[in-house]
Amino acid sequence: MAFQCIQAAFYMNLSGLISQVLLAKVDLNTKHGTTGIIPWDGSSEKKYKCLYCNHSCNIAWNMDRHMRTHTGEKPFECPQCPLKFVTKFNLETHFKTHTGEKPHACHLCSYRAVQKVCLKQHLLRKHSVSID
Ligand SMILES: [Zn+2]
Ligand SMILES: [Zn+2]
Ligand SMILES: [Zn+2]
Repeated sequence: MAFQCIQAAFYMNLSGLISQVLLAKVDLNTKHGTTGIIPWDGSSEKKYKCLYCNHSCNIAWNMDRHMRTHTGEKPFECPQCPLKFVTKFNLETHFKTHTGEKPHACHLCSYRAVQKVCLKQHLLRKHSVSID
């Protein structure tokens, strides 16, 4: 009889523990659900808004750079080839490729190609980006 009592007590504790764990789990999920995604309340209005799409930001030069994606303006020309770039950084990155054995570098990953057609294929296959 004594053994049964201990056993019953043990199961009671065990089920109590399980329900505690379950409760903790549910609580955790609830917390994650409420704090994980912060709904946009519109309180922090962005200063700059794009005329062409829904893009908006607070930094002027970021907006300027973004607008170039619509206008197609590429003010940075490579002195070694006919390519033009939206940012000076892009040009500098590109210019390094002229000194290497594989001059055609992917701007999305570390891939480099000897021929432009190889890069074109790579961009299409790996990044779903088409270039001309
Ligand atoms: Zn835009
Ligand atoms: Zn170049
Ligand atoms: Zn790539």
